[in-house]
Amino acid sequence: MTDFIITGGRVIDGTGAPAYEGSVLVEGGRIAATGAEADARATNRPNLRRVDATGQTVMPGLIDTHCHLAFDDAGSNAEIFHQRRNGLSALVAAYNARKLLRAGVTSMVDPDSTFENMTDVRDAIDAGLFEGPRMSCGAYALITGVGGTAGRLIRDEGVTGYYMVVNSKDEIVREVRRQIKHGADWIKVHVTGIVPRQAHRGEMCVWTLDELKLICDTAHELMTPVMGHCRGAEATRRAAVAGFDFILHATGMDDAALQAVADRKIPIVPALTFQANMVDYGDRIGTSPDLIAMFEREITESAPTLSAAHKAGVPLLTGSESGFALVPYGDWHYREMEVFVKYFGLSTLEAIECGTRKSAFGMRMMGEIGAILPGYKADVICVNGRVEDDLTVLGDPANITRVMIEGVEKDLSEPAPRKPIPGWRLAQIGGVRLTRALALGRPAAPAALHVEELH
Ligand SMILES: [Zn+2]
Repeated sequence: MTDFIITGGRVIDGTGAPAYEGSVLVEGGRIAATGAEADARATNRPNLRRVDATGQTVMPGLIDTHCHLAFDDAGSNAEIFHQRRNGLSALVAAYNARKLLRAGVTSMVDPDSTFENMTDVRDAIDAGLFEGPRMSCGAYALITGVGGTAGRLIRDEGVTGYYMVVNSKDEIVREVRRQIKHGADWIKVHVTGIVPRQAHRGEMCVWTLDELKLICDTAHELMTPVMGHCRGAEATRRAAVAGFDFILHATGMDDAALQAVADRKIPIVPALTFQANMVDYGDRIGTSPDLIAMFEREITESAPTLSAAHKAGVPLLTGSESGFALVPYGDWHYREMEVFVKYFGLSTLEAIECGTRKSAFGMRMMGEIGAILPGYKADVICVNGRVEDDLTVLGDPANITRVMIEGVEKDLSEPAPRKPIPGWRLAQIGGVRLTRALALGRPAAPAALHVEELH
C-alpha cells in the first residue's frame, strides 16, 4: 500500500517556489494533494498512515544526470579499460546503487558503461531484483578513430572500455541501431577528444557536422535521443546544429555556440563537481596549486556563458560524474547545485529546481518526476534541516531520513563494508619515483597529482 500523508515538514516543491509548511498526500505512488487540501482529504481516511516530518525538509528526490555506475570509483581510465569484468562490475554496481539512494538520489542517467552492462542493472532495478535509483542508460560511447579523452589507450577500432570506435558512416548507422536494439535509452557521443600530440589545444571536435547529423537522424528515427560530451566552442555549436538533444559539459562556449544552444534550448549538464572538489579540497590530496588554479579557471572561464545560457532559458541540469575516485558514489551528488549557486549566480531554490524538476529531462520524464505537485510520481526524500538555507545538509546520509520512489520507501541502512576484489584495481608500485635524491634524504619536490582527463 503506497498511500500515506507526510505531515509537519517544510516542503520544497522543486519548481523554484519558496518552501512552505504543509502536508503531502501520496496515493497509489503519486502525489495526490499538498498543503490544506492534503490535510482535508486525509481527514476522511482515519486509517491512513501518517509520516511525521517535523523539523525536516520534504522535497523531490535528487536526479543525477551524469553518473557512471559501472566504474566503481576508478582511479584511472586504464583501470576501467583493463581491470573490469562484465558480470562482476554489474554486481558491484548493485552494491554502489544503494549509496546513491542513501544520498537522496532517486533517478540517475548513466551515459555509458563498460560492456554496456548498466542496461542490465537498469532492468534489474526496474524488475525489483535489488534497490537502486531509477536509471536511464546509454551503451558504449561513440567515438571516431581519433579517440576520446584517453588518447592512445583507446584502440583504433572496436571496443575499449566504455568506448566504441566507429570509422565510417556505415559503422555509425549499424552501431546506433545495434545499441537501440539492445536497450539504450540514449546514444552517447564523445564529440571531443584529445589528440596526444596536440594536447595543448585541449579537447578538439573529432567529428564532421555530417557525421553528427547522421547519428541524430539514425537515432531519432528510432525515437532515441542523443547526448554529446562537448568541451570547447566548435563541438558544442556543431552538436547543437546537428540535432543533439542534450549536451554534457559545454564548457568553453563562444557566442556562436551559446547562440546555437540558446536558440534550441538544449539542456546542458556542466558536470563541474569534480573541478569544484579539486578547487576546495585538492590540497588535501596533494594537488599542486598550479593544477588547482587550472581547475578553477575551467569553472570561472565557463561561468559567464553557462550563466547566460541559464538566463536565456537553457535548462541547466545537475550531474556529479560519480564513478571516479575523485567523485566517489554517495558523497557529492548534491554538489553541482552548490556550483550553480556559487559560480553561476543561481538562488538555492533555482539550483534545487535544476537538480529535480529540470533534471527529469535526462530521464525523459519531464512532468512526471522531480516535483512535489499533484500527479507527479512520489519520488520524495525527507531531510533533517532546512535545505534551502544550506545545501550541504544533503551531503550527510545521516540527514536523509527517508527516500521514496513512487511512494515506496527504500532501505537506507549502511551497506556492509567490502573487501578488495582480486585484480580489480590497477596495481601501482608506489606513486613516487625513488630517486637517489629522495633516498638519500634531500628535500623532494611535493608529489604532483596526475589527473587524467575525465570523460
Ligand atoms: Zn562522463
